[in-house]
Amino acid sequence: MKCAIVTGAARGIGLATARQLLADGWKVALVDRDAEALETDAAVLGENARTFLCDVSDSDQIDRMISSVLEWTGRIDGLVNNAGVADFGPIEETNFDRWRTVMETNLDGVFLCSQAAAPALRESGGAIVNIASISGLRASTLRVAYGTSKAAVIQLTKQQAAELGEFNVRANCVCPGPVRTKLAMAVHSQEIIDAYHDAIPLNRYGSEQEIANVIAFLCSEKASYVTGQVIAVDGGFESTGVGLP
Ligand code: NAD
Repeated sequence: MKCAIVTGAARGIGLATARQLLADGWKVALVDRDAEALETDAAVLGENARTFLCDVSDSDQIDRMISSVLEWTGRIDGLVNNAGVADFGPIEETNFDRWRTVMETNLDGVFLCSQAAAPALRESGGAIVNIASISGLRASTLRVAYGTSKAAVIQLTKQQAAELGEFNVRANCVCPGPVRTKLAMAVHSQEIIDAYHDAIPLNRYGSEQEIANVIAFLCSEKASYVTGQVIAVDGGFESTGVGLP
């Protein structure tokens, strides 16, 4: 049975992705740093799911997590780098601590988890799916740290695809539009919510499941000739030029 690691899987898009992969017949390692959240929904997904407490900005914790997953399943076929944090603020108020906090999870975490899982992914000919954001594709105010971290994840994905392709490892990037998760609702003011509704051709936020569907497809054999791609799952936002405040 194939095994996928999903980071940031205690809630939101990560939890929906774990559920979809389980429904598709995968074993799933649900990774998160929030112990309490991991013990709620993620802990009751059945015998093919296990939770692993790990902060993806800490390379020692990542090494231990990868070893524990391999002890459990003996293989890693999919890695979904989904764990993320958001901090919106003007450039002059984004001090270096705030900047580093965003980079440590959103960018360093993707690099470190992928590096640690690479030997197992090479063995299985597996797939990496990195979760960036439409904020990494298009600049708008308040997103200096978040948007820059996500733009870097897009480039990191292309680097991974270029280098790991010869080992039959695919790497793709999903850029979600807005979804009403804890992360988004902490930083989306009413002004931002209204602006998204106006700027998105489908005129609504997406759901966790709508993002999970595309992630699961990219993990699957159905995407066996897809690598190095950046896919916006955003109700059409990226296809228009309509800006945000
Ligand atoms: P969420 O807050 O619901 O879930 C994020 C999860 O990641 C949480 O369970 C959190 O504990 C975990 N996490 C955070 N930092 C971690 C770390 N260092 N180590 C381990 N776990 C960590 O948020 P979400 O909206 O589901 O976000 C998932 C991903 O989707 C993020 O990368 C986010 O940037 C991206 N995204 C979200 C939206 C949106 O509107 N919700 C839009 C674009 C991109």
